[in-house]
Amino acid sequence: MVGLPHEFLRAALVAVFLRASGAKPNLVPVEQARAYLRGACPMRIGLAVGAPRADFLRGRVVAIGAAGELKISTASAARPVSGAPASSAQLICEQDGAVWRAAQLQATGARVQMGDSSPVFYPGVIEIRPGALGLTVVNVVPIEDYLEGVLPSEMPVSFHMEALKAQAVVARTYALHELGRHASEGFDLCSTYHCQVYRGDSLSQPSPGLNRSDEAIRATRGLILSYRGYVAKPVYHSTCGGATEDVWNVWANHLLPYLRARSDEWGISSPLAGEQAACRFLASEGRAFCRASRRFRWEMEFSLEELSEKFRANMPLLGFSSAEPGQILEVAVERRSRWGRVEALSVSTEAGVFRIWRDNIRWLFGAGKPGPGGIPSTFFCIRRKGANVVLTGGGWGHGAGMCQIGAEGRAKAGRRFRQILASYYTGVEVARP
Ligand SMILES: [Zn+2]
Ligand SMILES: [Zn+2]
Repeated sequence: MVGLPHEFLRAALVAVFLRASGAKPNLVPVEQARAYLRGACPMRIGLAVGAPRADFLRGRVVAIGAAGELKISTASAARPVSGAPASSAQLICEQDGAVWRAAQLQATGARVQMGDSSPVFYPGVIEIRPGALGLTVVNVVPIEDYLEGVLPSEMPVSFHMEALKAQAVVARTYALHELGRHASEGFDLCSTYHCQVYRGDSLSQPSPGLNRSDEAIRATRGLILSYRGYVAKPVYHSTCGGATEDVWNVWANHLLPYLRARSDEWGISSPLAGEQAACRFLASEGRAFCRASRRFRWEMEFSLEELSEKFRANMPLLGFSSAEPGQILEVAVERRSRWGRVEALSVSTEAGVFRIWRDNIRWLFGAGKPGPGGIPSTFFCIRRKGANVVLTGGGWGHGAGMCQIGAEGRAKAGRRFRQILASYYTGVEVARP
């Protein structure tokens, strides 16, 4: 997201989950989504795993001790109740010296405080259960209420209403596609960048900006993206730089026909043919819908020593054994997609040639500029400047699916949210199943 550090954090997490992120897309039939959209099935959102202890208090939340401890204030507990795991199946509970066992504790209208953070109100039910590592805290919440705690973290609320509506449909669809991702831990989605950032009601201050994101959710209530009867996997990124990418050129095992490369420019629909055309395009201002992004074009310069160090540090992450690669002698584009992104990069070192594929290329130079996530995109050209290597690139993020700044550009140019979604997700249906 432009102007926010989210993309860095997300990138870092994606790097951590690099192999997991290659997980095959889920096949969720739209009939299954219907029960969630009509409120019959609430979402289960994991707020904490492995908390040592929970206290249900009456009235105001008091300061808490060790990080990871929980205190929950709720009108439903007449007196303080404390719970800690007795085993991975039972809680041991205490109230006024009385001790008993229970499978779980539940609270409605609860404010939850974790670590040193301020208490946050969560709609729906808070459920506390023992798990293998400690207490698991789950918010059982209807999907539309969940989205109100998601959208402001996924797109700036100052964006155009039609862009916010497109993002609302995307966030709703994404949540349904990822149902059960954390099933082994007892919930559907976590509340961090790994799934979608969810902050309960902490953002619903009486502010006109946030009302706009709630308005976008209400205006698109129940609408999702589907493809041939299944919930789509609507991945998105901050800035494409002028063209999005076929998803299989980003993650090899994602053969999703609706995540096709598309031009993000006014009136241009043909791909970039060859190395020269791609580099010329990246050297130009372009007329793309996302050209307002501060990462629309970027340049990074590395010395070969710097690159060698980064490569050495990132080898295990990239799936190479940590054999000593020696100095990097040359870095070159070996294969480029029709739409301009680098598909294969060859790194020649004293120990031989290493080939890095697709989105993994972004993590090759990680832990350095511009953030822990590596280089902003795989849409770049390489040139030598003396002993240094210069990357001239475009865009921010993986490049598949919706370009968020492009969505904003299209909205400002008068496109409605359905047109925006159709531009980035080829052949999907936008409907209330
Ligand atoms: Zn997750
Ligand atoms: Zn774009």
